[in-house]
Amino acid sequence: MKLLTGWLYPDLMSTYGDRGNVICLQKRCEWRGIEAQILPIEVETSLSELEKVDLIMGGGSQDRQQEIVMRDLKGVKGKTIKKMIENDKPGIFTCGAPQLLGHYYEPAIGQRIEGLGIFDMVSVCPGPDKPRCIGNIVVETNKNYNIYNDYNSYNNYLVGFENHGGRTYLGKNIAPLAKVIRGFGNNGEDKTEGAVYKNAVATYLHGPVLPKNPHLADWLIKTALEVKYGKKIKLERLDDDLERHAHDFIIKKILANK
Ligand code: GLN
Repeated sequence: MKLLTGWLYPDLMSTYGDRGNVICLQKRCEWRGIEAQILPIEVETSLSELEKVDLIMGGGSQDRQQEIVMRDLKGVKGKTIKKMIENDKPGIFTCGAPQLLGHYYEPAIGQRIEGLGIFDMVSVCPGPDKPRCIGNIVVETNKNYNIYNDYNSYNNYLVGFENHGGRTYLGKNIAPLAKVIRGFGNNGEDKTEGAVYKNAVATYLHGPVLPKNPHLADWLIKTALEVKYGKKIKLERLDDDLERHAHDFIIKKILANK
């Protein structure tokens, strides 16, 4: 089996270490004998290349870079990504990336950036003099999504690190990814974190999020392969006790201090 991950604008959207998500997906595939390729999606990337992608990853960036990226995404590329997500291709979008997939993002300084409107949500930065949402974050995932059903007792939690000025507000047609246990999440007010639409996951969690939450990485790989090959896939269990212990340790600590 083969999995092609499309990585949105590695040069412009790699400010917060989300490259680790791509490495994590690649390694977890390779360790199972699944051929993993990465396609950087850049201004020069053609539509025919983009359409071959099985899974999309978009990382964090700064307001200025988001504006440049959005100029490129506005045309056919954006429409193609929308179609891919509507057709159930999975995606993991962190922080700056989901801000562009909502209806709009209002940056700290400058004009509103119109988004692709794939996620029913808007993001607004209250201004450069307002505090950013920074720190470790733990969230409990939405039980309506059986993203984590293969794993142990802490599989319904995610851990990460957030660093954003923008605040995201969800519309009626989208469900949050999770409930905030510790941290800010979407806006620091309503306890929601991230969003899920079809198989596309939006989140404020860096860390990067996938190596810190291997169950989420495996759900993305499994879903991408199921959509691509049109059959149920059972991923081989990896020897990843260390990653799981690290994940569970921090969740237990946070829950104990609640
Ligand atoms: N520029 C956005 C913000 O500050 C995104 C930051 C990020 O990707 N971490 O809200």
